Amino acid sequence: MSIELTRNFSIIAHIDHGKTTLSDRLMGATNTVAQRDEKAQLLDSMDLERERGITIKSHPVTMSYKAKDGKTYKLNLLDTPGHVDFSYEVSRSLAACEGALLLVDASQGVEAQTVANLNLAMQQNLYVIPVINKVDLPSADVARCKRQLEDILQLSADEAVPASAKMGIGIIDILESVVRLVPAPVSLGEDYLRASVFDSIFDAYRGVVTYVRVFSGTIVRGQKIRMMSTGLDYEVKEVGVFRPKMFAMDKLEVGDVGYLIANVKTTADVKIGDTVTEMRRPAPEALPGFKEIHPLVFSGIYPISSDDFESLKMAVGKLQINDAAFTFMAESSAALGFGFRCGFLGLLHMEIIQERLRREFNMDVISTYPSVIYEVKKTNGEEMIVDNPSFLPSVQVIEEIREPMVKIFLMVPNEYIGDMMQLVMDKRGQVEHTETLDDNRVMLQSLIPLNEILVDFNDKLKSITRGYGSMDYEHAGYQPADLVKMEMLIAGDPVDAFACIVHRSKAEARGRALAAKLKEVIPQQLFVVSIQAAIGGKIIASERISALRKDVTAKCYGGDISRKRKLLEKQKEGKKRMKSIGKVNIPQEAFIQVLKSG
Ligand code: GDP
Repeated sequence: MSIELTRNFSIIAHIDHGKTTLSDRLMGATNTVAQRDEKAQLLDSMDLERERGITIKSHPVTMSYKAKDGKTYKLNLLDTPGHVDFSYEVSRSLAACEGALLLVDASQGVEAQTVANLNLAMQQNLYVIPVINKVDLPSADVARCKRQLEDILQLSADEAVPASAKMGIGIIDILESVVRLVPAPVSLGEDYLRASVFDSIFDAYRGVVTYVRVFSGTIVRGQKIRMMSTGLDYEVKEVGVFRPKMFAMDKLEVGDVGYLIANVKTTADVKIGDTVTEMRRPAPEALPGFKEIHPLVFSGIYPISSDDFESLKMAVGKLQINDAAFTFMAESSAALGFGFRCGFLGLLHMEIIQERLRREFNMDVISTYPSVIYEVKKTNGEEMIVDNPSFLPSVQVIEEIREPMVKIFLMVPNEYIGDMMQLVMDKRGQVEHTETLDDNRVMLQSLIPLNEILVDFNDKLKSITRGYGSMDYEHAGYQPADLVKMEMLIAGDPVDAFACIVHRSKAEARGRALAAKLKEVIPQQLFVVSIQAAIGGKIIASERISALRKDVTAKCYGGDISRKRKLLEKQKEGKKRMKSIGKVNIPQEAFIQVLKSG
């Protein structure tokens, strides 16, 4: 098929605006019938992502569409994850497209995630076609949506397609718009093979499947290829497209989106954003935009029961095969026993892995407070890297601690700019630049410590701006800062899981908050329990839990045996989920709540 008849596009949308329903409709209208079994399974394993409004792993679909002009087009629909943690993956998927459908719910209007994703699409110079979905709803307000498209997003509302993915309205109009407005791929010259890698998955039967978009040349079965960033060579065992199942072809040509299977061992060897070229005739230059991704956030993950260590090891290993951005290394903690130091792209990525361990592998785990990577210069001139607060050397031997910084871009409606600046300053950020985007919005650019935006920054941004603010960030090197290690002592014993590195100016407030939280969640014991926060041996905050003898059956009246037994069983169950720290039993819930609340 000629390259002029190919269209590569993706759908960008806020959660629940109807992306999945529309994708299904487009497949239906083009007779790209989904294999129901596979689909049901796929959705099952993505429950978590769906709850969070993100997709992490999904594959492109190649559809064949006979347009009103009588020609048959090859339409490749690429899906993208929708969260800032994965913005690099999003940008690589978008870079594989020439156009995007921007889906907006007619009853909700433009929302934050839409703005963030549209910006990424614009950076890739994609042709954006607005689709106003859910026009069947009585509360649909198409005129308002059109105004917002023009005012907030500076898109031409004339091209907006009214649709109802649920009722099947406007589906053909959407396909016609894609054919008419999204530019056909342009070959970068036929001389060399250049294909960009935008994702990869591990298939239990086939090994690593690499998703590619061909920008020049051809990929053929049996060809020897080279991954340009790693310099590693492979032989192509199979190439093909998704219809939506993997469908083997003889070759992938310029403009095509599909997959290749080579003798690649793990997804870690396939770098997203890398360029595939021919081993014998390598392209002189890789495609632009490749970045090596590294984990930025670290946390210890421990089994609640030490018997589960081996199962946890297997589970993290399995998760990593399919998620090269996730890393782990064995470590041990005095309080929590044997576990793993795990690295993630961001906080959401961390939560997803933790949830998967719980749901898919049935693992009961505790995770420690998330941390970034610090650079430490010791007084003897030695440099070290610290990703775990427990390993920070004592203050006496530290000359300087440097922390990772990010350049953060915040887009907020005008009226909230004052509150946003306050938040940025509370988080030790310096506002570098503000810019009016349109009548309604301002962009605020700031240099801020990564550590400060880890836990609740996004939530605060959303609550300040009533959901309309959005953020994105890029890394901006390291800067020295006055950081200290704060430890929490329970009944005099330091609990390493609660140790954290904080800025000196914030240590006391954090210590007080942590101590108060611990007091709330640790049950009374048979003796008085002291809770203290300390920096280098100096106590900066303290609380105490008074002693109590708790009789669990006290509530029972008469001789209601079954009720009594139930309570005792419940208590037994509760005990299993306890960690003893020194003499104190701390329920798992306490760790989770404290580590969550920051
Ligand atoms: P996603 O999160 O963007 O993938 O959204 P989904 O496709 O899962 O849709 C979210 C909800 O909106 C589901 O309950 C859909 O049935 C519903 N929905 C999607 N499209 C339409 C539509 O055109 N009209 C109406 N009334 N509901 C829709």
